[in-house]
Amino acid sequence: MQMKNRLMILINVIFVFISFLAQSNSMPESASRHFTEKAITEILQETDDIRISNVDLFAANLAQLEILSQKKVLSSYQDCYYQYLLAHDLGYKGKYDLAKQKINDIFKQCDDPNNKIRSKLLLSNLQVISHDYESAINNLDYTITNINSTNEPELKNSVYSRASLVYRLVDQNELSLKFAELLINNNPSESFYCNGLVAKYRILLKIGDYQNIENKIRQTIDVCENSGNYILSSFLKLEWLDIQLSKSTTIQEKTTILNALKLAEIEIIKARYQNLISIKDSMFAKVYWSLQNDEKAFEYAKLSLEESKGIGSTKQEIVSLQILVDYYRKIGEPEQAIKLLIRKNQSEKLHYDDQQAKTMAYLTIRHENLAKSHQINFLNQQNKVLSLENKLADKAALMQQLIILFLIVLVTFFVLWGVKHKKIQQIYKKLSERDHMTLIFNRKGLRDHMDVMLATSEQNDKEVGFAIFDLDLFKSINDRYGHMTGDWVIKNVIKTCQKINNGKVTLGRLGGEEFAIVLHNSSLDELKEYCECCRININNLCTIDSGHDFKISASFGITTTKTSGFVYTTMLTDADEALYIAKNSGRNQTVTYQAA
Ligand code: GH3
Ligand code: MG
Ligand code: MG
Repeated sequence: MQMKNRLMILINVIFVFISFLAQSNSMPESASRHFTEKAITEILQETDDIRISNVDLFAANLAQLEILSQKKVLSSYQDCYYQYLLAHDLGYKGKYDLAKQKINDIFKQCDDPNNKIRSKLLLSNLQVISHDYESAINNLDYTITNINSTNEPELKNSVYSRASLVYRLVDQNELSLKFAELLINNNPSESFYCNGLVAKYRILLKIGDYQNIENKIRQTIDVCENSGNYILSSFLKLEWLDIQLSKSTTIQEKTTILNALKLAEIEIIKARYQNLISIKDSMFAKVYWSLQNDEKAFEYAKLSLEESKGIGSTKQEIVSLQILVDYYRKIGEPEQAIKLLIRKNQSEKLHYDDQQAKTMAYLTIRHENLAKSHQINFLNQQNKVLSLENKLADKAALMQQLIILFLIVLVTFFVLWGVKHKKIQQIYKKLSERDHMTLIFNRKGLRDHMDVMLATSEQNDKEVGFAIFDLDLFKSINDRYGHMTGDWVIKNVIKTCQKINNGKVTLGRLGGEEFAIVLHNSSLDELKEYCECCRININNLCTIDSGHDFKISASFGITTTKTSGFVYTTMLTDADEALYIAKNSGRNQTVTYQAA
């Protein structure tokens, strides 16, 4: 073993030395770098693998890694791995606080999930050692939860192995067994296989499931011894022998157990593991006591107590104290016996309290996690409600937008419809106040126009002239040339008058062949002039286009606001009176209304 270690250390030193040469000499930069990086990672992994089983090699590798770290040839991943190994070293040298500090730094600075899981696992280890079970379980939970983020199968196995151990410590035997099985079935290395098997059978022994177990325990011990893991095989052996002892009845059976214990002792001493040594010696005390070799039993019990000092209250301490109590009773020293009995009771209480603390820690964590998951569920529900509300709000907003859009369309439609309607109304109004044949105002249209115009003119003190003219003997034109010709005459008479448009004139058809002329802002003379012009042009109108040649004439009766006032009906009556005079005075003339 010793030789093998030295050889491995030497090989490593040469390896690192060659790596350095390769880096600084003739090899191309990238090739040398690649080679070095690979070599360094291998050293890191190897150092990790042997960290417990080979303390000397571990120390030697750490020294090499320190040189590499100083030369700054470690990648950030490698540096994190190296820091983890340093934390491990600190922890196992009992510098827990420094180790924990380092692990926290690693966790903050390193992104790689492997290094994070490794560090948390180590932290959980240290917390178990310092009896901080709650934190240990919490950190273990982290590694279990994130186990699928690691691509290192052996790291996964580390998690399973640690989970199995921690759950056994906190009395969660079923969980512990489950993780042991996971480890056994995850294609582990020989060392982890030993780990898994030992975990499994220690649990089965603990819960008293001894059926057909003997062969399996022997095989497990072989597996562990083949992989050099004597500490684990020894633990299993001692527990197995303890059970055998409790079942043994004959001296022969007990002697066989004693011999097996003596055989196991050789490797236990080599392992130099204090806890294991004190368990072994308390076992010796027990076996010797049952063989009634009291002196030997006393000797080993004292030895075991000595060895387990500082480990805390352990089972072996309680066993050894009980043997000492029995011993002092037997030799007739009750005072000494009582003193030790009190000590034993105290130790038992502490051990029980510690056990309680472990179980409570587990239950507290699970309770907290349950509460957390409830809270998460609650938050999820709340989020669902919120997102539903958001969706509804979105829908409502969409609906609102649609409604607004709809209203805009509706309003636009009504505005357009209103505009159109108004235009149509205006058209209808125009049509309703127009004469369809001549398109001048009809009687009603003229009246409306006159009402507004007279009011404005009165306000502005403007004179308005008003005339009525009637076609002379129109009936005879109809009779002679037909109704169509009569219509032609009406249209052309109006055209004739419109041609003399002086910009102030408005024409209207009062009915039949009777028309009105309105001249706003005009004197009687201007009206007279316009009517005379109109009358003459009508009289000169050429009728050939109607298909007949005949003469047309019209009679005019005129008045102004100066005589008739700004009342339309009065103007109408007065103008009509003047027209009547024109008709009766031989027609084809313009007569001005004379107030009586
Ligand atoms: P006076 O000089 O006294 O006015 O004689 P008159 O024949 O013009 O008068 P009267 O009132 O006896 O006849 C008017 C005729 O006008 C009667 C009617 O048939 C005709 N008339 C009225 N409106 C129209 C029309 O739109 N077209 C045609 N062709 N004839 C019309
Ligand atoms: Mg007439
Ligand atoms: Mg007439």
